[in-house]
Amino acid sequence: MTERTRGIHWFRNDLRLEDNTALADLTQRVEQWLPVFIFDPDLSTGEGEPLPKEIFLLECLASLERQLGDRGIPLLVRSGDPEVVLPTLCREVGARWVSLNQDTTPFASQRDKRVTAVLEREGVEVLAARDRVVFGPDEVVTGAGKPYSVYSAYRKRWWRHWQDEPRLPSSTSGLPAPIPGVANDPPEARPWADQSGNSAPGHGGGISQAMTLLDSFLDKGVLNYRHHRDIPSREGTSRLSPFLRFGAVSPRQCFGRAFEAQADNPQRADGVGKWLDELIWRDFYAGILEKNPRARRGNLKPEYDSMEWSENEDFFQAWCQGRTGFPIVDAGMRQLLETGWMHNRLRMVVASFLTKDLLIDWRKGERFFFDRLVDADPASNSGGWQWAASTGTDAQPYFRVLNPTAQGRRWDPEGEYIRRWVGELRGLAAPEIHEPSVGHPGAEYPRPVVDHAERRLIALDRFKRAASSRKSDGIR
Ligand SMILES: Cc1cc2nc3c(=O)[nH]c(=O)nc-3n(C[C@H](O)[C@H](O)[C@H](O)COP(=O)(O)OP(=O)(O)OC[C@H]3O[C@@H](n4cnc5c(N)ncnc54)[C@H](O)[C@@H]3O)c2cc1C
Repeated sequence: MTERTRGIHWFRNDLRLEDNTALADLTQRVEQWLPVFIFDPDLSTGEGEPLPKEIFLLECLASLERQLGDRGIPLLVRSGDPEVVLPTLCREVGARWVSLNQDTTPFASQRDKRVTAVLEREGVEVLAARDRVVFGPDEVVTGAGKPYSVYSAYRKRWWRHWQDEPRLPSSTSGLPAPIPGVANDPPEARPWADQSGNSAPGHGGGISQAMTLLDSFLDKGVLNYRHHRDIPSREGTSRLSPFLRFGAVSPRQCFGRAFEAQADNPQRADGVGKWLDELIWRDFYAGILEKNPRARRGNLKPEYDSMEWSENEDFFQAWCQGRTGFPIVDAGMRQLLETGWMHNRLRMVVASFLTKDLLIDWRKGERFFFDRLVDADPASNSGGWQWAASTGTDAQPYFRVLNPTAQGRRWDPEGEYIRRWVGELRGLAAPEIHEPSVGHPGAEYPRPVVDHAERRLIALDRFKRAASSRKSDGIR
């Protein structure tokens, strides 16, 4: 066996074997390979209680390991700096190639540049593929060749691109043999070795779990998706976001299966169309962050750098704990705290409440979400937060201020969702449940921390001043 026929695939957020672009490329070139996952201490120390997303990652990793094991291929799991681990491994096994699927978020893209430079200096070729999204930001561009900053226009162009170049999943045609004789770290040396199988309720990561969820959603859930997706008391959405986050399923597999489901039953067409439009948000935000790395924790619209945010820690803590006195906000936050997930409609409501009612910097909310969400994704999270805070891609100007009480009445009219998550309000029926402080002063449930009508006016004034402080030189 010469070194030219050996390669390593570095698994990161692509924890699957099927429709894995870089892995497919590697398997065409090598006779023997080594699948590797590296716990990077810069990302998590492995100490203390794992976060929901870390538990989910461990479950996806265990699932990948089982699938590889069924083929007689051990997954090599190491801890350390990839800049050191990978070149050392390449030397040890004589690997000529390292394949990886690009991660274009700011931290990861810088890391990958450094790792690539070190490997290339050692004569190892890096096979980097775009796999995480269907289309990258350079593929869906305006007539002038520029990236889009408004979703609706982006989506139209995205679909035109799809008509020209549909990107459906590829099937993996067998895997090469494993490189023999590479010692794995003992399982107990892995971060949180005793924690896997302990995921937040409602989850359970893994490749087959992703496929089961996808198929069952496309079988039934998608039929009513358009109507049920905004109703938080229903299981109206796919719940696939954490699986997409860790690559247990690819976006192309979602598109491919959705079109098959539609062909099987044309009544699914409306729901499939709407659902795929939602998936396109994922490509959109990934592209926004790739082109604007500062948007990870900086305002996409720089005029809001002068925004006067409140430092009120009591308000922030009330929001974090789901004790604002606004039932729909508190229900959303408590769902997050208890399960590691929150319904999309609620993410918009609680983000608007934090930034427009409490006037707290979106970055504090983004960080809180990032640590607690099982699907925490740098691009979708900062994109969603900046959209809600009007510092990002919302085509509407800053004066979209959601009224939390009206949102509760509209999306949870009978109060089912609120009753599920806010125990103190379980005895109340609609409509009182939406304004408990009016009919039930002195109840155990907190009184509203702010007056929405007053705060709305303050928010409009502060946003207006910030917006006029400097003409935006952000992307258009
Ligand atoms: C403030 C805020 C923060 C958010 N943070 C995240 C995050 O960290 N990670 C994350 O994956 N999503 C995030 N979202 C987007 C959205 O809330 C979730 O993707 C969605 O709730 C996941 O549930 P689902 O899989 O059942 O969605 P479905 O309705 O079944 O949608 C299918 C898929 O489309 C994608 N998608 C849908 N809506 C969006 C959206 N608005 N932006 C980006 N992708 C979308 C997701 O990958 C999702 O799994 C955030 C939204 C807001 C408003």
